[in-house]
Amino acid sequence: MSGSTLLKETGPREVFCGLTSIVWLHRRMPDAFFLVVGSRTCAHLIQSAAGVMIFAEPRFGTAILEERDLAGLADAHDELDRVVKDLLQRRPEIRTLFLVGSCPSEVIKLDLARVAERLNESLKGQVTVLNYSGSGIETTFTQGEDGALKALIPLMEPSQEEQLLLVGTLANAVEDRLFTLFKRLDIPKVASLPPRQSTELPTVGPNTRVLLTQPYLTETARCLKDRGAQIIQAPFPLGVEGSKIWMEAAAKSFKVSNSLVQTTLEPLVNRANEALKPYKNQLSGKTLFLLPESQLEIPLARFLLRECGMKLLEVGTPYLNKELMQSELDLLPENIRLVEGQHIEKQLDRVRHHSPDLVVCGMGLANPLEAEGISTKWSIELVFSPIHGIDQAADLAELFARPLHRHELLQKNNKLFAQV
Ligand code: SF4
Repeated sequence: MSGSTLLKETGPREVFCGLTSIVWLHRRMPDAFFLVVGSRTCAHLIQSAAGVMIFAEPRFGTAILEERDLAGLADAHDELDRVVKDLLQRRPEIRTLFLVGSCPSEVIKLDLARVAERLNESLKGQVTVLNYSGSGIETTFTQGEDGALKALIPLMEPSQEEQLLLVGTLANAVEDRLFTLFKRLDIPKVASLPPRQSTELPTVGPNTRVLLTQPYLTETARCLKDRGAQIIQAPFPLGVEGSKIWMEAAAKSFKVSNSLVQTTLEPLVNRANEALKPYKNQLSGKTLFLLPESQLEIPLARFLLRECGMKLLEVGTPYLNKELMQSELDLLPENIRLVEGQHIEKQLDRVRHHSPDLVVCGMGLANPLEAEGISTKWSIELVFSPIHGIDQAADLAELFARPLHRHELLQKNNKLFAQV
């Protein structure tokens, strides 16, 4: 790595669990259904995180494990079979059913892989049943997507075709834009995982070059590599610089000429740098503390330091996959304090000690910190927002400038009230 100080910390954690990723995955693949096998707590989490869809049938639900199940008094397998049968009778349009494990299902050691195997036998031709874990015992919220994509990989047909595979959920509009740009770069075929329909999976093979759009897909990247795909090393497509290098890396792997890359990207870069200027003025010199939650922290820190002039006090990340993160780490200076893992009490002590201008953190920590007069940005918002690519750099910076602006306004108002 670059030489940044890497510290490891363990202790109490304050993060969302992997179930949260259903919020964006169910929007991405409307023909799939996510059935959480969990408790009422899990049902509350997913409902409040996703909002109740009042205009359409929801594409997620919870098979509630009752106390009887948890105590091992009832056969959870029979109950689950019954719930799945009812669901598919009501919703025959479902093509892929994800059984999503939770803390309770893990505690009672409910083997969802075996359940999925059994259901696949009985539902052959009607629906594909897959499983992954969203349990908060082991995962943070973005790892839910890693588990879901990993579960899809065995269904991908082998292929020798030369293609670029974008891996990680993007907003559809952002993905369309990137597809257009890669087409302009003469890249013969571009596909994406997850696809927009769960049944339209891309192929994979030795001529597939994987370009990760999100940094939290460690297991997915490993499984695609096992299927013969090549992983393109690049920083992640956040900000002008990261997105440009990301696209250049893809172009290089397809031997696209430098001149075509430059003529395609230069106008975008110039426009994006211009759009970034007002936010840079607002952010430059401000101090930033990133608490670990989404695994987006390192690319965000790199963008906010190098393109917006912010000062990094600490960059926390729940996990650090050095291989996938190497290109990011290379762009960070030597003296960055990088912390892998979490001891929430110690981290909050450091936040209070430094009193940063802005803290990136989970929703549960934001309100208490705001009450102490510290501006915050929810890390989960960065996963829901269309922030990828050169064109989106100003929007990304604006997400950080907004809380600072609000803080300034509040301070002004407080001063005015004090004078009255
Ligand atoms: S999976 Fe675990 S952490 Fe997530 S809502 Fe259910 S009980 Fe809570």
